[in-house]
Amino acid sequence: MVDKYRTLNYNIKADVLTSFSRENKAGVQARCCMRLNLREIIAIPGNAASFERELDTEGLEFPSIVRYETAPHASGRVFNEAGVLRLEGEIRTEMLCICDRCAGEFACTKTTPLSAVIVEKNDDNADDPELFFLDGDEIDLEEILSTLFILDMDSKFLCREDCKGLCPKCGKNLNLGPCGCGKEIDPRFAVLEQLLDKD
Ligand SMILES: [Zn+2]
Ligand SMILES: [Zn+2]
Repeated sequence: MVDKYRTLNYNIKADVLTSFSRENKAGVQARCCMRLNLREIIAIPGNAASFERELDTEGLEFPSIVRYETAPHASGRVFNEAGVLRLEGEIRTEMLCICDRCAGEFACTKTTPLSAVIVEKNDDNADDPELFFLDGDEIDLEEILSTLFILDMDSKFLCREDCKGLCPKCGKNLNLGPCGCGKEIDPRFAVLEQLLDKD
């Protein structure tokens, strides 16, 4: 029993160490370590295992993302909180995006907070979208991290909160200044226009 745990403990440590030295590893090697063995944590409340991985951006394409300047970098830990397995941490990435309003390209840094509960799958919880499931004593980190990353992806990509967008008439980028199309109409002429419209 003792030997078994020692081996498992070693495996978790080796796994984490491999990811820490990922700069020196080929991408293929980084990917094959996306599974995390949690046996030590499942068995003992209070135990935790940290992880640090880079996500493959394949499958993380969005129309508004031109490219990832840095691979999404995930770091965090899985811990046993009174018998409940929780995953927490964050994913950081730098992207080149297209603004949904003005179509201009802009650089943005995105931080995705990670929070998930990992349980054993059974008939009652199998369809619960809030949960992630153990596969034996392991989890598929890639799947969990990618899912959380996608769920947190902004529905709107704006170069800035108050992006003025493009003029619907002439197409000019209104962030660069007014175009002249939307000139204030003299209220007296506006009334006249309304009268003329009625005829
Ligand atoms: Zn914009
Ligand atoms: Zn215009």
